[in-house]
Amino acid sequence: MTSSDADHPRGRARLTVLAGPTAVGKGSVSAYIRDHHPEIWISVSATTRPPRPGEVHGQHYWFVSDAEFDRMVEDGELLEWAVVHRKARYGTPRGPVEEMLAAGRPALLEIDLQGARQVRRSMPDALFVFLKPPSWEELVRRLIGRGTESEEERTRRLETALVELAAEPEFDVSVVNSEIQQAGEELVALMVEPSA
Ligand code: 5GP
Repeated sequence: MTSSDADHPRGRARLTVLAGPTAVGKGSVSAYIRDHHPEIWISVSATTRPPRPGEVHGQHYWFVSDAEFDRMVEDGELLEWAVVHRKARYGTPRGPVEEMLAAGRPALLEIDLQGARQVRRSMPDALFVFLKPPSWEELVRRLIGRGTESEEERTRRLETALVELAAEPEFDVSVVNSEIQQAGEELVALMVEPSA
């Protein structure tokens, strides 16, 4: 773990935003936290992309139509939203996040960089964590190893990943995802760190 801003008031940050390049393992790290740290609430995003095999509505995502996503945007229901990989829209429903924070429960958003920047503007006291790969070669290996995307989609995602890697200095702290459990535990420790 490295910190780019040691002065951030981490202990008071009830909301944590986890971002990082495509295929770095954000989903695996949040799944680890979901399974091992029930004290932490993880936001379920809305998306206009179709479910992958095994994905459950309301658990992995809220899978919504374009019209429903439009309505959520118009009604101000999303804390942030973005078009990811130039394909589908993803957004964080605002209500549940506010409810969890009001109840004092640590909340985690696993979102893309554009979304993280929006939250930075609207909730600057949140803790912004950048999940990074051990190396570029390892990131490419993970991206191709997943094997669920077409060649064109992989190229698109690599381009996005390059841009996203360059954003690391914008974040409060970085966590290297060499191994899921270690990265997950580091993230949880940052989230629940007591105020100084
Ligand atoms: P996937 O389609 O592979 O599940 O996710 C693609 C990307 O969308 C990931 O980088 C993930 O972090 C991002 N993403 C998921 N939910 C949200 C969200 O609510 N807002 C934003 N801005 N990005 C999201």
